[in-house]
Amino acid sequence: MTRTALVLGAGMVGVSCALALQKRGIAVTLIDRKEPGRETSYGNAGVLASSSIVPLNNPSLYAKIADYLGNRHPALNLSWRRAFTRPGWLLRFLWEARPSQAAARIAALQALTASTVDRHRALMTEAGVAHRLRENGTLKLWRTEAGHAGAQAEHDFLKRHGIASQILDRQGISAVEPSLNPIFPVGLLIPSVGSVDSPGAVTAAYAALFAERGGRIERAEVTALARQGAGWRASTTKGAFDADIAVVALGPWSGDLLEPLGLDPRLDVERGYHRHLKPQPGTNLARPVYDVDGAYYMAPMEQGYRITSGVDLSFRDAPDNHRQIDSATASAREAFPLGEVIGETWRGARPTLPDSVPMIGEAPRHPGLWLAFGNQHIGFSTGPITGEMIAAMVCREKPPIDPAPFRPGRYMS
Ligand SMILES: Cc1cc2nc3c(=O)[nH]c(=O)nc-3n(C[C@H](O)[C@H](O)[C@H](O)COP(=O)(O)OP(=O)(O)OC[C@H]3O[C@@H](n4cnc5c(N)ncnc54)[C@H](O)[C@@H]3O)c2cc1C
Repeated sequence: MTRTALVLGAGMVGVSCALALQKRGIAVTLIDRKEPGRETSYGNAGVLASSSIVPLNNPSLYAKIADYLGNRHPALNLSWRRAFTRPGWLLRFLWEARPSQAAARIAALQALTASTVDRHRALMTEAGVAHRLRENGTLKLWRTEAGHAGAQAEHDFLKRHGIASQILDRQGISAVEPSLNPIFPVGLLIPSVGSVDSPGAVTAAYAALFAERGGRIERAEVTALARQGAGWRASTTKGAFDADIAVVALGPWSGDLLEPLGLDPRLDVERGYHRHLKPQPGTNLARPVYDVDGAYYMAPMEQGYRITSGVDLSFRDAPDNHRQIDSATASAREAFPLGEVIGETWRGARPTLPDSVPMIGEAPRHPGLWLAFGNQHIGFSTGPITGEMIAAMVCREKPPIDPAPFRPGRYMS
């Protein structure tokens, strides 16, 4: 029986695992080198993405590749040096996009995302931060009349999957977001999507809830992970911590501690940036909006209006490349009356596996070592269900959804 657990990483995924294990009576130590929620779980767009069920590498990617390869499109930046250093990952990412794989991955992502808003609403209420939740949807916007076809196709696709959406014309867009400049002839409102006004503060509040309930949080760098008797030991800058099980929830850094154990989860990163801008006085944005042609989200946050960029496929720790966020900022200024930039540009890295489906389960050949990472573009949304799945499997309960598509063994033996 599991009585003690180490959870490594206090982003949304790790904090959620810690809370779910604690709920089952397990004494949990949560370890992070930073305060909870200061990395990827801080800088995202805060969208509770209950409709994000299509993996980024879907069959339509093949048609877009030629457009992307010149690194002129704001949706993607590809470092060729990185591509040639790790060609296997990129080829696998492209291979997983083939049509025969689409339905199973869409089903897995829909199962994972369906309860996102309900789970966060419950946790935010328990953590005393329900005021940070908005339940008024997200709005996708197209800049040209050609967007009608895209909006209609997405509306029909979502309908087939039981997700309601509403196609809006220019007037309809103005009715729901009056401060947007009238440059978008077509939009798609997806009402069931939620959002928060500070993902970092929400993650920190969940961690505070965990501590209030008796959980232990240690601020230390984990330097190694090894078997210790029947359990696991994390060596850290503050000494060693032992427990019956260990959960690796280190987001984009998860591979670093696994590779010395002979485990290569094929994790890579899709970097992204954000920048905050002040809205002009008298304007308001009620919900996050996504400019399809500009390839950015603009989300109202506590700190200002947060513009988040597309995907930068570069080495995780390479210097910033602001091409996409500069382009997104310029496009956002066309869309909305924005004032000055607030603070510095932030960079983060979405942890991504080649099939764009996270790894949630026990590591092959390493009993008691649990993996919870690779939540790519939807990790803020899907942290809570990831935590519930891990805790249920650790306690030999039935997980809330079928864990098979998420099993670590699909990439490691
Ligand atoms: C620009 C951008 C926009 C996004 N928008 C959205 C969105 O709108 N909605 C959504 O759902 N998702 C979004 N995402 C994705 C989401 O942010 C991530 O999937 C999610 O935050 C991953 O959470 P995590 O807990 O796995 O990782 P993290 O939040 O990165 O947590 C990992 C933790 O591990 C710690 N750590 C790492 N190595 C060590 C070590 N050796 N020792 C100790 N601690 C260590 C780090 O300090 C960190 O706190 C976005 C991502 C980006 C980059």
